[in-house]
Amino acid sequence: MVNEFDVIVIGAGFAGLSAATAAANGGRVLLLAEGLGFIADLPSTIELMGYLPGRPGYVGRPWDELAGLIQYRDHPYAKIPARILEQSLNMFVETVSIMGLPYEGDQGQNTLLAGPAGVPRPAYLAPYTMAPGRVDDRSPALVVGFDVHKDFYPEYLVANLNRFRKVSGWGAEWRAAVIHVPGHAERGLNSQELAVLMRDPAFRRHVVAEIRELLHSEARVGLPPVFGLDAQGTRQVYQELVDGLDRQVFEIPTLPPSPPGIRLATEWLRYLRRMGVKVSLGFRVKGVTAENGRVSGVIVNTPARAGVHRCRSLVLATGGFWGHGLSGLAAGEVRESVLGLPVRLLAPPEAWGEDAVFRPQPFVRFGVATNAHLQPVDENGNTLYENVFVAGRLLGGYDPYEEGCGEGVSLASGYYAGMLAVSRGVVGE
Ligand SMILES: Cc1cc2nc3c(=O)[nH]c(=O)nc-3n(C[C@H](O)[C@H](O)[C@H](O)COP(=O)(O)OP(=O)(O)OC[C@H]3O[C@@H](n4cnc5c(N)ncnc54)[C@H](O)[C@@H]3O)c2cc1C
Repeated sequence: MVNEFDVIVIGAGFAGLSAATAAANGGRVLLLAEGLGFIADLPSTIELMGYLPGRPGYVGRPWDELAGLIQYRDHPYAKIPARILEQSLNMFVETVSIMGLPYEGDQGQNTLLAGPAGVPRPAYLAPYTMAPGRVDDRSPALVVGFDVHKDFYPEYLVANLNRFRKVSGWGAEWRAAVIHVPGHAERGLNSQELAVLMRDPAFRRHVVAEIRELLHSEARVGLPPVFGLDAQGTRQVYQELVDGLDRQVFEIPTLPPSPPGIRLATEWLRYLRRMGVKVSLGFRVKGVTAENGRVSGVIVNTPARAGVHRCRSLVLATGGFWGHGLSGLAAGEVRESVLGLPVRLLAPPEAWGEDAVFRPQPFVRFGVATNAHLQPVDENGNTLYENVFVAGRLLGGYDPYEEGCGEGVSLASGYYAGMLAVSRGVVGE
């Protein structure tokens, strides 16, 4: 089995999907991934830069801070030209709008939305189903949970939001309520199962009727993220809730699985297929073929036999330790999993982890070292493969959790890598 492509992208997280979108108009593109990336587990908001290491509080205007990161040469934002970063965000906003999942932002500012435990989280862009849930909105909100839902605790969430309101002086009163879901008490349901239940018109009527009974003067109603698993179904549920309750309605993210992430990934893959990208999910890439400092093909194990897909350029967007792009942490021999690229370890082994679980962990900053064109380099800075471009969490030099920049870095570096792969892969061949 031999197939020829201009660009192969490995990985279907934010970085791989962004790279494939950027490359889609530039030739034959193949997106290969073992599974969906963390996009399907995350709230699906876009965090561009939420916090600065060592500085208390959250970042209000990310663009004002991004320029300062250029002093940290290893940070991916220091390698991505500002206009490319801007283009990547525009590409995302345009693409999700075509997909029927429009996003909203606040003119270059972060918006504070309620997080899973009611702790406000800064988001740069949010899907229309979450945007009305701003914690600084002055209209009171009712947060409604389902009694069979295992992963959403309205009382706890609202207590934290009201605590934040008292301390900050922002926003309005939050109130919690729970509605009964008949027939599932024994096992309970997660968010994905509830999103499936919401497809049933009779169940939606029940939800609207129950919430109407509980509403006082609140102008907004927040629910767990259960509106749907695709764009069309989500729009229908959202509209029926808005019409039936005559209130603004919004989703509040909670633990995985995440219906907003699943719907984003599902619709994005659909969009890429419509754009002519060949998508192959479910198979692990075992390695590559390479000649004269260039990768010439990607080896994939299918149940029948190993196959080689030939390519002019490769985007490696395989994630970090949890995404399987990096391995060997426990064994003390960290390596990149597909090409065996060197990984820049920014700390000696005895300092890889912090004992306190919630403190920043040094190993999170480990990743493949690249030059300014996202090409992998050795410890002396020499380019290892001129037609390989690295994107997303596989890049080192930053902490997506501490900085709240995981989706922003993945979108921007994926987009940049996709563009570079198209131009390098075709020019001069
Ligand atoms: C639990 C959790 C919570 C997080 N919370 C936040 C947060 O609050 N704020 C924030 O900014 N960031 C957060 N992040 C980080 C952020 O989600 C990631 O930085 C970002 O999603 C990484 O995207 P990615 O596309 O680079 O990688 P991933 O999403 O990990 O995708 C990797 C892809 O590569 C594929 N792959 C890997 N190896 C192979 C192979 N050999 N063959 C084929 N396919 C392969 C995988 O199947 C997958 O499709 C969180 C991450 C996790 C795990």
